[in-house]
Amino acid sequence: METDKCSQCRLCQQYCMVARAGGESITTILSGDSETGAWNCSNCWKCVEICPEDIDVYEVMMEKRRQEPAPVRYKRAFDSVCRIGYVYPVDEVNTFREMWGLEPIRLVDPKVVRKLLGRPWAGDEE
Ligand code: SF4
Ligand code: SF4
Repeated sequence: METDKCSQCRLCQQYCMVARAGGESITTILSGDSETGAWNCSNCWKCVEICPEDIDVYEVMMEKRRQEPAPVRYKRAFDSVCRIGYVYPVDEVNTFREMWGLEPIRLVDPKVVRKLLGRPWAGDEE
């Protein structure tokens, strides 16, 4: 595995914003400090840029994610994206914009999101 090349220099951990905030991330796993954290990531790719051994730390994390179940909060977020197109209920945003006299913005159609994710719902093709 690519991680065999890891020299434990800890540069990835030093630059990882999740690790710097005290959280466990893939960078703490690679530096031998944790067995968890493959789902804690801001997708900044700094670990990939900084690694002197050219280890694709992000891909290592994605591989680990494929082997582990996602935390409940991720499942909730994914369900929300399939339902309304967003993680948070921004489908109500235009109601608030109208209250403030602002023009409506064009929100992403959740049907399009579901199509891109390959998760069609009953009635999507109507
Ligand atoms: S991509 Fe994720 S693991 Fe890598 S430095 Fe950024 S937050 Fe940390
Ligand atoms: S920067 Fe690269 S070599 Fe250094 S600890 Fe992280 S993965 Fe290992």
